[in-house]
Amino acid sequence: MRPGPPAYVPPMHADPTPDPAETTVERVALLFALEAEAMPLVERLMLAEQPAVDPCLRQRHFAGTVGTVHVDLLTNGTDPRSGTDRVGTDAATMAAYMAIRKLAPDLLVNAGTCGGFEAQGGHVGDIYLSSGDLLFHDRRIPIDGFLIQAEGRWPATPAPRLAAAIGAKPGIVSTGNSLDFTAAELDFLRREGVSAKDMEATAIAQVCVQCGVPFVAVKAVTDLVDHPEPVQEAFLRNLRMVSALLAERLEAGVRWLGAHPRRIADL
Ligand code: SAH
Repeated sequence: MRPGPPAYVPPMHADPTPDPAETTVERVALLFALEAEAMPLVERLMLAEQPAVDPCLRQRHFAGTVGTVHVDLLTNGTDPRSGTDRVGTDAATMAAYMAIRKLAPDLLVNAGTCGGFEAQGGHVGDIYLSSGDLLFHDRRIPIDGFLIQAEGRWPATPAPRLAAAIGAKPGIVSTGNSLDFTAAELDFLRREGVSAKDMEATAIAQVCVQCGVPFVAVKAVTDLVDHPEPVQEAFLRNLRMVSALLAERLEAGVRWLGAHPRRIADL
């Protein structure tokens, strides 16, 4: 008699893996949306450009070694029609999944610029490292079970020593797909005590938590949301200066990571 088909084994629906606290950080991936935000760090760490991770997307990939860590840095690349850098949650989600699958980082860092809040003591040039849960401020699904999906609330990996090495303050980060904001979004941002408003971090956190990859966001303030000047004016004026400052602080953070082997639990 011929053997029957093998027994059906249902696919595993693994719960999101908790942070693998005992992992030593040997590979770190840094994801940036804008080239202007990333290039000062590429230069400081002398990272070398690599072939595209996936020719279908237009990401740029740079890599190098800093002490005990291998560093991969990705930018989102540009929109093929306008040539402008790709910002927002779609590009960020794809970048995160691709980085995790192809580069196998032990720690993923989303770095870049953000809007800050005077009400939270924020100033242009301040640097925040994600604390607590990361939020989405522009998603509204008021149905049981869907609200949390809409609002994100994905946890960041605690990293107080890394924050100290960078010189970053802890802050709540919230992500949306617009540079400006509506009155309802401003209400939400105030209610949640958000310090850093960006367009990528929570999308990346969502992928990282589901894949069990430790994640932090490091965000430098280019503009102030609760200030009369339109955010885009301050953003464009401060982008270069703040990106240079961010690179200086991130370099210190990466050199701290690479100074000797560090576990996720030691960050
Ligand atoms: N014209 C700009 C567009 C950048 S969009 C350019 O030079 O290409 C803003 C980018 O900076 C996003 O990647 C976002 O994460 C970050 N950012 C800075 N300030 C922000 C704010 N106030 N609100 C949302 N995102 C902000």
